[in-house]
Amino acid sequence: MSRQQPRPKSRQKRYSIALIEGDGVGPEISKASLVVLDALHDKLGLNLSIKESPAGDNCKRKTGFPLPESSLKSIRESDACLKAPVGETAADVIVKLRQMLDLYANVRPAKSLPNVPSLKPGIDMVIVRENTEDLYKGQEFEFDGGVVALRTITKFASERIAEYAFQAAEQRAGARKVVAVHKSNVLRKSDGLFARVCREVSKAHPKISFSEMLVDAAAMNLIRDPVSFDVIVTTNLYGDILSDEAAQLVGGLGMTPSANIGKDFALFEPVHGAAPDIAGKGVANPVAMFLTVGMMLDWLAKTRKDGVCAAGASAIRTAVSRVLETSTRTPDLGGRATTKQVAEAVAKAL
Ligand code: ATP
Repeated sequence: MSRQQPRPKSRQKRYSIALIEGDGVGPEISKASLVVLDALHDKLGLNLSIKESPAGDNCKRKTGFPLPESSLKSIRESDACLKAPVGETAADVIVKLRQMLDLYANVRPAKSLPNVPSLKPGIDMVIVRENTEDLYKGQEFEFDGGVVALRTITKFASERIAEYAFQAAEQRAGARKVVAVHKSNVLRKSDGLFARVCREVSKAHPKISFSEMLVDAAAMNLIRDPVSFDVIVTTNLYGDILSDEAAQLVGGLGMTPSANIGKDFALFEPVHGAAPDIAGKGVANPVAMFLTVGMMLDWLAKTRKDGVCAAGASAIRTAVSRVLETSTRTPDLGGRATTKQVAEAVAKAL
């Protein structure tokens, strides 16, 4: 699939978006997001050229490669990439893309939305996860009787993720505090370095309150007092685990978007996986994907200084909130609506 929205009458800039439809529920929520993007085109003149860039399990079955060169080329040539989840080949697709494109900051917000079961009202946090190193470099080696996995933590990567987290806190309304999550009491050298660097970077941001928390305590405090968190900065593996936990606090994996941000390029995807248990049934919750599109438009608005993208991002969030106030919701949120019905309702609410 390669589709261009018809040119709007205005001179709105056209952005090229590489779309990875992925596996499992991926194609269903991708289609739903196109319904919403078409409505945004009609309403605001948002002008996107969507280029399908196959990757994942289905792609590997068809082409022999989970991430073919042609897809990589189309991603590199686009303004941004929108990605639905992939299945078993995730390590060959998203982990590779993060490293190849140096998408160093994985930004995963978790926010209570109206009328959605949330552990407590008023949760509004963002997890800023280092995205390029740690155990996810995949350096595992077998020896006779076992396996050893190398964990890489560098000063360079820790510094830039800490800096990203403090800048994110500065741009947020509200509490404006950063907590660095690590396990430096046990992993004294690797997490010790990460913690030390976060402490150093905090000195350059005196207006942001800074604290540290061990990862096991953080996992408990997310349940005990989720409202107390604002920005969490952490290493790759802890961030992966804590963000699934944070998603559950605000209604489940069908609700949480994410961004993978690099210096000049970014890739956007829902936090959830391919959800094979509900794939093909037409009941996947598309809200995470819609909020992901919102994050993509926010990033385009910021990096291209584009008011139409900013308006689009805010319109998506308002429309999603409006629809969540009605009974049009998928079964994971206690409703009976299909993915398509939710997409049509959000498009209409725009
Ligand atoms: P991965 O390891 O690839 O991130 P995962 O093991 O976290 O995947 P998911 O595929 O995200 O697993 O699914 C976990 C559970 O959440 C499953 O029961 C799945 O049906 C549910 N789930 C995930 N995404 C959605 C969604 N968009 N709508 C409804 N339910 C979902």
